[in-house]
Amino acid sequence: MGRLQLPWYGKLKNYKPAKKMIQTLADTPDYLVEVFSVGPLQCNCTLIVHKPTRQATIIDAGGDAEWLLHRLFMVHGVENLVQVWHSHAHFDHFMASEALRQATQTTLHLHKADAPLWDMLPEQCQRYNIPLPEDKTAPPDAWLSEGQPLVFASGVEGVTLPAVGKCLHTPGHTPGSSCVHMPSLNVLVAGDTLFRGSIGRTDLWGGSDKKIEQSVKGRLLKLDAPEDMAVVTGHGQLTTLGFEQRHNILMR
Ligand SMILES: [Zn+2]
Ligand SMILES: [Zn+2]
Repeated sequence: MGRLQLPWYGKLKNYKPAKKMIQTLADTPDYLVEVFSVGPLQCNCTLIVHKPTRQATIIDAGGDAEWLLHRLFMVHGVENLVQVWHSHAHFDHFMASEALRQATQTTLHLHKADAPLWDMLPEQCQRYNIPLPEDKTAPPDAWLSEGQPLVFASGVEGVTLPAVGKCLHTPGHTPGSSCVHMPSLNVLVAGDTLFRGSIGRTDLWGGSDKKIEQSVKGRLLKLDAPEDMAVVTGHGQLTTLGFEQRHNILMR
């Protein structure tokens, strides 16, 4: 599971990746965290590499599947894309997910409350006039839930690595919107729940003003974390927890 399927090695060898701005949020002996924007709406995609075991996790594969595969397997020498997590099921955050699953047999993970949205991919694409992905997107493999740890396998029997992060269920932008908090790397992946100085829209399928306020003001901005913790927003400029605690629209 998670290994690049054979035909892809040939394809990727000749692949010329488009230039993208890449932000490195953490680079420790054990982990690398990179963010870049992908897909038709330039969603911020997060790549987490566990260096000692050459495993990776992606959060929000919003598009550019070949670029992602090239980055993982050719640039970083990853051997195993173990999972793809999703902050929510708006189309612009999972357009490349099925292609990654086909190419590597990785597993796709989503909060169950967004399952109906995932199934509405064709309607979502139609509404925004975006062509559907080539491969028909099948349901996720597993459901994310509050507190679920993000953990890599040690590869050694009986040895468990400490979790590098955990899922926070933060509904509002969508019913299943979730963040990934990685305290040891000082990173919070917020999806479309939090933007620099602002919050996600709530006028789409299942959005709720009340819930996003509870999630952001009542939860994310109260995290017991350093002010300089990097926050990966869903699109555009990244931010920090401290900046949002002072300047977020909900704090004015
Ligand atoms: Zn969204
Ligand atoms: Zn989005």
